[in-house]
Amino acid sequence: MKLSKLIVVVAFVAAVAVCGVAFSGQTAGSEFLVPFPAHHVMGNIYFVGSKSLGIYLITTPQGHILVNAGLAESVPGIQESVAKLGFKFSDIKILLISHAHYDHDAGAARIKELTGAKYMVMDADVPVVESGGKEDFFYGDRNDQRYPAAHVERVLHDGDTVTLGETMLTARLTAGHTKGCTTWTMKVQDGGKGYDVVIVGSPNVNEGYKLVSNAAYPQIAGDYERMFQVLRSLHCDVFLGAHGGYYGMEAKYARLKDGGANPFIDPDGYKNYVNERETAFQAELAKQRAASR
Ligand SMILES: [Zn+2]
Repeated sequence: MKLSKLIVVVAFVAAVAVCGVAFSGQTAGSEFLVPFPAHHVMGNIYFVGSKSLGIYLITTPQGHILVNAGLAESVPGIQESVAKLGFKFSDIKILLISHAHYDHDAGAARIKELTGAKYMVMDADVPVVESGGKEDFFYGDRNDQRYPAAHVERVLHDGDTVTLGETMLTARLTAGHTKGCTTWTMKVQDGGKGYDVVIVGSPNVNEGYKLVSNAAYPQIAGDYERMFQVLRSLHCDVFLGAHGGYYGMEAKYARLKDGGANPFIDPDGYKNYVNERETAFQAELAKQRAASR
């Protein structure tokens, strides 16, 4: 075997080994990479995610905003979805995320490379995305949660706005799930009416999270409580989230065909979801407090 050929083979084996680890760890038992039809949500918002990943394209005449990057392996699917909707992937100017976990940010480096988009991330999540997951308070030492690091062009703070063309999104810090977990809000015009859109960052307490005596994140329980206050304070007409499961994406998509009212307008579904998640959080907190006594 010639040396050049050998190098190619060795490089390929190394690439498979690296991607293989990341792939099996990050997608095992999930529907992250199961394709789902790209669709119009409302106004200038489109769904370009997968069966379980909430990824949104917000279009403007001055270019587009992408909310969430998915896994590194999600990028070709996002490109396909954007093209199917009749938009250009290369017109994405700004990349935002719900929070710094691999299922929402691992594809960021690749998307930035392909589009030149500016990456804008909430302050406390910036060290995590810029270290490829190493700085995460919980998953930091898990090799299977690593991903390509990506540079952040703009550091966001609670209440900051992101503007492109006539579209403006507001970043609300809803920490707990990650230290910089972000819930995005925006107004959308559809059929001559204005609607309030909420893209929920994540209200979930992951398996293994310590809410009590957490040295890596001492204020975690207080942050979750503040997060629920923020979510309860938001007026929501159009309910979206970092995962389709938050808002019943599949069932709502099926109802689009009926041609009735837009199924994504769901203020009661939003309120019920926030209440249900807060009850689950309080139960987990009570359980952990009792066990620590
Ligand atoms: Zn997460």
